[in-house]
Amino acid sequence: MKIICIGRNYVEHAKELGNEVPKEPVIFMKPDTAILKGKDFYIPEFSQDIHYELEVVLKISKGGKYISEENAPQYFNEIGLGIDFTARDLQSKLKEKGLPWELAKAFDGSAVVSNFYEKDKFDLNNLNFSLIKNKEEVQNGNTSLMIFSPEKIIAFVSKYFTLKTGDLIFTGTPKGVGKVVENDILEAFLEDEKAFDIRIQ
Ligand code: MG
Repeated sequence: MKIICIGRNYVEHAKELGNEVPKEPVIFMKPDTAILKGKDFYIPEFSQDIHYELEVVLKISKGGKYISEENAPQYFNEIGLGIDFTARDLQSKLKEKGLPWELAKAFDGSAVVSNFYEKDKFDLNNLNFSLIKNKEEVQNGNTSLMIFSPEKIIAFVSKYFTLKTGDLIFTGTPKGVGKVVENDILEAFLEDEKAFDIRIQ
């Protein structure tokens, strides 16, 4: 399986990192080895500035290519939450040089993925999600603020990549990204449902 990630999908987040609001989705990928196993995230030795980015994740339920926006809802049945852990110091250096982001985004453990929920249980166009760090809310998003909707994302990425059952799509983070340090506890909520918790080591 593959993990396709959308960058800069919320206006306020694009602004907080000093990026332009994109006209087309910004896409990058993580390998399956990026998925965090267990509940402990270990800060890698190559970064002094690991950031959390809480995101809604779509789980692809059927293979397809050139999927239309109209048909896109048939290609995912479940949604969850995830963290796109980012080595921000490394990413800034790569961005400066115009180089790909993989070293900063696709390292082992950089993709936290929650359990998945039937998408029909929620209103995907108006879904609240939040991240609590050490009992304090640090990120709070609503899918209505996405620049590119899940349907638009699926239509766009499936022009380039065949989607397969089990592929995951990280749909971008709202504003409020920030650094983690050892012993932080992160808890993620999809509406009132606790989707996961992890500890930083
Ligand atoms: Mg992200």
